[in-house]
Amino acid sequence: MFRQIIGQDRVVTLLKRAIESQRVAQAYLFYGNDGVGKFLTALYFGMALNCRHTGEPIPCDECGSCRKFLHLDHPDFVYLYPTINLETKENSDELKNKIQKELDAYLEKRINSPWEDYYFSKRAEIRKESVDQLQRRMELKLHEARYRICIIENADLMNQSTANALLKTLEEPPENTVIILTTEKVSDILPTIISRCQQVYFPPLSRYALENILIDRFNIDAQTARTAALIANGNFKTAFKLTSESISEARESAIDLFQMALQDQEFEFYCKVSKISKETMSSAFLDDVINYLAIMVNDMLISKYNPAAATNIDRADMIGKAATKNPLIEEHATDLLLILEDLHRKLAGHVNLQMISIKLFFALRKLINPLRKA
Ligand SMILES: [Zn+2]
Repeated sequence: MFRQIIGQDRVVTLLKRAIESQRVAQAYLFYGNDGVGKFLTALYFGMALNCRHTGEPIPCDECGSCRKFLHLDHPDFVYLYPTINLETKENSDELKNKIQKELDAYLEKRINSPWEDYYFSKRAEIRKESVDQLQRRMELKLHEARYRICIIENADLMNQSTANALLKTLEEPPENTVIILTTEKVSDILPTIISRCQQVYFPPLSRYALENILIDRFNIDAQTARTAALIANGNFKTAFKLTSESISEARESAIDLFQMALQDQEFEFYCKVSKISKETMSSAFLDDVINYLAIMVNDMLISKYNPAAATNIDRADMIGKAATKNPLIEEHATDLLLILEDLHRKLAGHVNLQMISIKLFFALRKLINPLRKA
């Protein structure tokens, strides 16, 4: 069962047992970091509960029910996700079309490559209208499924009124309905909602699991897969992104930033930052820069003991020089990787790109020049 879900064995066993013993909870909360398979597992759980195939593999991916789930258009499947507001103040058709296009693009990505991030142009949240729609759907009879499946993705992005509306549904859920909430931030979800869900923790994926997925599913060469898995910190989305070729431009920017931090060029840095705006840089790009900086920091660690294993062999001199300036590099590099992870998460929300860049520069400079007086 769930052969497509790799590296979450404990979770898979738990869900499998629930199905086999017919003790499926009415609501689940799948929580854990980004890129660990919460959405895919939720989808496959829904598919397994409704697959028409008898015997293994379940879900089969091929029966009519499975296919509809995979295209996110099963009549008994409700999918709620954060969206930008369609009802704008300006209310122009042009703007509405633009937003609608973004929503379509989001869905298409969820269907075809859910391991890639999508960035909306404005702040997204789960709206009260979405929950109202969910409630209307709940009142209908099941069309064809054994279980109606509802996935609420990034449930922490519900505002107060949305959360209260959902709470009513969770208090009296209709029969044969399974609601699955996913989140990276349990602390942002109402305790009253949490208490009505069975909580399922998704740990970060192991390096080995990441490597396997990259090699077996995406035909990535072993060396690249190993490096990406090493740096991705258990996040498959990051690992996948690191293997893509489009990252080269981001790499140049990362090297540039690294160099400025190494040479303490604060003024030059501010000149560059002042030119950053929504028009000149995207969140996705800055996220790639962050990913690449993680590779460089990792190279700094490697440079002491095994410089040949570094990813940026062509920049070995610069990176080696930076590494020798900090006697506590091991300890500080780990701190910096945590900062990068945090900035990566902040980018998913709607944040000021200049602010993120400034934080990057200072964190990097502190790593490279720990003794420099602030
Ligand atoms: Zn099936």
